[in-house]
Amino acid sequence: MNRPSITSLHAVSQDWARALYDYVMDSGRLLVLEVDPGPRRIVHANVAFRSRFAGFADVRGQSLDRFLDGEEDLLDLPVPGDGDRPMARLVHTLLGGEACLFHAYPLETRVLLIGEVVEGADHEVVGRMGNLALDMSRLVRDLRKANQALARANALNEQLARTDALTGLANRGYFMERLAAGVAQAHSRGHRLSVVMVDLDHFKEVNDRYGHAAGDAVLVALAGLLREVVRASDLSGRLGGEEFGIFLFDSDGDTALAVAERVRAGLARQRPLEGDYRPSASLGVAELSPGEADGDLMRRADAALYAAKGQGRDRVVLAPPPG
Ligand code: GH3
Ligand code: MG
Ligand code: MG
Repeated sequence: MNRPSITSLHAVSQDWARALYDYVMDSGRLLVLEVDPGPRRIVHANVAFRSRFAGFADVRGQSLDRFLDGEEDLLDLPVPGDGDRPMARLVHTLLGGEACLFHAYPLETRVLLIGEVVEGADHEVVGRMGNLALDMSRLVRDLRKANQALARANALNEQLARTDALTGLANRGYFMERLAAGVAQAHSRGHRLSVVMVDLDHFKEVNDRYGHAAGDAVLVALAGLLREVVRASDLSGRLGGEEFGIFLFDSDGDTALAVAERVRAGLARQRPLEGDYRPSASLGVAELSPGEADGDLMRRADAALYAAKGQGRDRVVLAPPPG
């Protein structure tokens, strides 16, 4: 006769399941308890348990701790539904003066305890085994906590590694990484994609006249404007110094031109410093051409930006298609 293999156990017929269930429940040796872990109350106890520890009396509703000889902390119940996979846990306890070993399985809202009396065992050994199991479960819990803290620290590190410290925008590395991925996606799915490059005009003079801290304040104000103007699906970043970039997914050159114009106009309204300083910027816009590499797209946007500088600054220029 074929036995079910481990991989097909989940497909065991109801007859099999019934036979296993009956064996476990009716076994004279195996102690089976279903416990409500909050109040630690017994919901169900099999005959073996009741005959051994309760003179066959119904123990439903009774406190589990009544049967633990005041050593309740030895039976540290796992908490069901705390996100863990159900896991067997070895626990030790002394029921009516007898040493028992239990496996505890967290179920949906209950804990299933299946155990045995350890006949003639050295109580000290059983006790040590139980304590070891408890230590292990604590170690596992501590390890899980440490892992969670590590994951949080890693997430924060990753966030810092891709953020420009002054403005909080994406830094150059992250911007270029996202742009490369966006360009690949645009090519493969036939989406449009455009970039805008922004460079503050005569920014060296700002530093010279008002100081470096004031210059920083101008950069922070521009970053705030970019955040307002740019949709959640787009990305703005600081590409270096007083140069910023926006990449707009699923947008053609005219849409990007309108966004760039909103940046230019918004900047003209800003008064980030005391005094009569009015920030302005030159902007270059380029729309991705079929098959174009991300680096080439950026070079066209850059060329448009320098054309805007050459035409007198404080303006937006759209790059012609390549070739
Ligand atoms: P143009 O209109 O041609 O762009 O002139 P510009 O003066 O803006 O350009 P230039 O490249 O000559 O100078 C850029 C200046 O930006 C020089 C540098 O001191 C300043 N800068 C770069 N990074 C920072 C920064 O983080 N903080 C401040 N305050 N200034 C910066
Ligand atoms: Mg500049
Ligand atoms: Mg510059």
